[in-house]
This record gives sequence, C-alpha cells and structure tokens, in this order.
Amino acid sequence: MKVFEALKNLITKETSDENESKKMAVLIRIICLTLILFFAVNAAGFTIISRYAASLGTLLLAFFYLIIFILSFHVPKMILVWSFILVTTAWAMGLLWLFGPDSSFQIFPPFVIIIFFFASYESFLQKALFSLSTFIVYQGMSYLYGNREPVYELSAATRHCLRDSCMFIIILCTCIAAHMFSDDSKKMEKKLIEYNKRLKEKANTDPLTGLNNRGMAMEYLQEFVKRADSELCSICICDIDHFKHVNDTYGHDIGDMVLRSIANAISSTVDNRGFVARWGGEEFFIAFPGLNGDQAKDVLYNVQSAVRKAGVNASGQLIKVTLTYGLSEYDNNKPLTANIKDADAKLYIGKESGRNTIIF
Ligand code: GH3
Ligand code: MG
Ligand code: MG
Repeated sequence: MKVFEALKNLITKETSDENESKKMAVLIRIICLTLILFFAVNAAGFTIISRYAASLGTLLLAFFYLIIFILSFHVPKMILVWSFILVTTAWAMGLLWLFGPDSSFQIFPPFVIIIFFFASYESFLQKALFSLSTFIVYQGMSYLYGNREPVYELSAATRHCLRDSCMFIIILCTCIAAHMFSDDSKKMEKKLIEYNKRLKEKANTDPLTGLNNRGMAMEYLQEFVKRADSELCSICICDIDHFKHVNDTYGHDIGDMVLRSIANAISSTVDNRGFVARWGGEEFFIAFPGLNGDQAKDVLYNVQSAVRKAGVNASGQLIKVTLTYGLSEYDNNKPLTANIKDADAKLYIGKESGRNTIIF
C-alpha cells in the first residue's frame, strides 16, 4: 500500500515550471511507466526463448522511456511532449525497418497526433500542420522501407504476436490519454456549470435579505408575460411605513435587522403561492401567479398578520412596523411598466390614506 502511495506521489509530483499545469507531465509519466513495464515483460520473454538481440532492443526502448519519465520532472511541457513523440516515432520506424509493414507501425500516427493535440493549446492550423507532417513522415517511411525486405524475417506466428502486442499497448496508452482528458473536461464542465449557477444566484439575490432582487423580479415578470397571454396574475408592491423613523431612532443596523425580519415574514407567508423580491430600499414586490386580486388580497391579509407578529428586539425594546400594500391584477393588454405603475399608484393611495392598509 505504501509503495502504491509513493508511486502515486511520484507520478503526480509538480513539474519544474510552476506556471504550467502538470496534467501533461502526469499523463506522459503514466504512459512511460506502462511502456517500461510492457518492454520489461517482453525483454524477459525474449530472454527466456533466447532471443537476446530482441531482448536488448526492447530494453533499449524501456531505457529511452525511462529518460523521458525523468525528463518530465525537469523540462517544459512541449520539450517533454516532443521528446515523447520522437522516441515513439523512432520505435514505430524501428518496427518497420526491422520487421516490415506488418508490424503494426500504422497505429502509431493517430496516437502521437492525439498526444500532440492534448498537449498543444496552439491554433488549429498548427495542429493541422503537425498532423500533415506526421502523415508525410510515416507515409514516407512506409514507402522507403515498406517495400524492402525487412532486416529480420519473422515467422508468421511471431509476426502476428509482435503486431498484436504493439497494437494492444498503443491502444491501451491511447485509452489512458483519452480517459484522462475526457475526465478532466467533464470535471471542468461540471465546475463551470456550478460556478455559473452560483454567479447567477449571486447576481439575482439581494445580499441583505436573501430575497430575489429587483432585476430578478423584472426577469420573472418578463418571463411570465412571454409564457402566457391569458394567464392570471396579481402583483403587489408594498413599502414599510415610517421606516426612516426606525433608522433615525434606533440606527441603521437595527433598521437592517427590521428589513430582514420583514423580508422573512413576507417570504415565509407567501411561500409557494407567489414570488417575493426586494424591490428597493424598504419596498418589496410580490407576484401571485394564478391568483386574482381577491385571492391575492387574502394572502396579503396573512402577510399583514405575520408582519404584525414579527419584531426586532433593540436593547429590550420590541420594534414593530407596518406596511402599506398596492395590489393590482396584471393586465396583459398593458405594457409591463404600466402594470407596475398601477400597483405603485395604489401603494401611493394607501400611504395617502393613512398607511398599514391593502389597496386593490
Ligand atoms: P413612508 O411611510 O412614507 O414610506 O415613510 P418612510 O420613512 O418609510 O419613507 P422614506 O422614503 O422617507 O424613507 C425610507 C427610508 O428607508 C430611508 C432610507 O434610509 C431607508 N432605507 C432604505 N434602504 C435601507 C437599508 O438597506 N437599510 C436601512 N437600515 N435603511 C434603509
Ligand atoms: Mg416607507
Ligand atoms: Mg419607500
């Protein structure tokens, strides 16, 4: 378990360049270790069947990938990636030169292209150029060596074995690379969605009361208007009576506490029967979708009684406030602003006629 932990720490160790993400280095380390293991097993197999030259060749490859593994802690990302691509290409070319075109070297170009694309944040043109160059290099080598007699003539069975094992290991490495990057982008996407959600919530919420803010209320109404031409809705704008007096007498902080307790009383009473927002200063907005004026007025009576019960304790003194409510039924034939003006005008009438009242 300790060995596993130590290996994990080694693989995920930071690179020398603090400004670079270690993601690519970690990927190359994992692939290098996988390949070293693969070559070591192969070398052992070749030694057992007394193929010492082949054993030496695979050990040489393992040695090159070990160097790349070590380089991953010390060199910048792109130097590392290029070294990896060069050694991998040399491996593919070696296979072609020594054993002929049936040695699976064709699977290498997609693999190096994937590694380059994942590593490079450059323009698409550079990636396209890299892909084209890879194609030319591999095709060129194929024409050059593909038609010649291979250096080693293998038996059909050995050739198939070599081809299949190379195919297997390159596909495995491609899977590791693709998994790491798809997993990464999935996590990133999730984080971004979460972040956007929180940002939107923050932008739509009034920080003092935790209610929706005026912008959100307008958005809500615009959505409502778009949604249903004939759907019933009542809207109310209410305002705390003589709130300036509360501030002047008890201070702004106590005023804030009163605002919070009123916001809480309104929103918990309206609950899922409507939408509540802080309209501004000591004014609140309530929308009652699906309720006509009389039904909305009944809810407002409940709000009134909740407000009556709510209060804030300031040095032993219980501060209570009242609100005046302007209520109107939403008229779809009028523009949104005219509907708001209607509710506002009724609120004004309520203030004129002595406050602590619901005007519909
Ligand atoms: P009316 O009954 O006519 O509505 O009288 P009022 O005193 O409530 O109205 P006025 O418009 O004269 O004063 C509103 C006060 O609300 C003034 C302002 O300082 C206070 N206010 C607005 N926003 C806040 C806030 O976030 N916190 C506190 N503590 N006070 C606020
Ligand atoms: Mg007021
Ligand atoms: Mg006001």
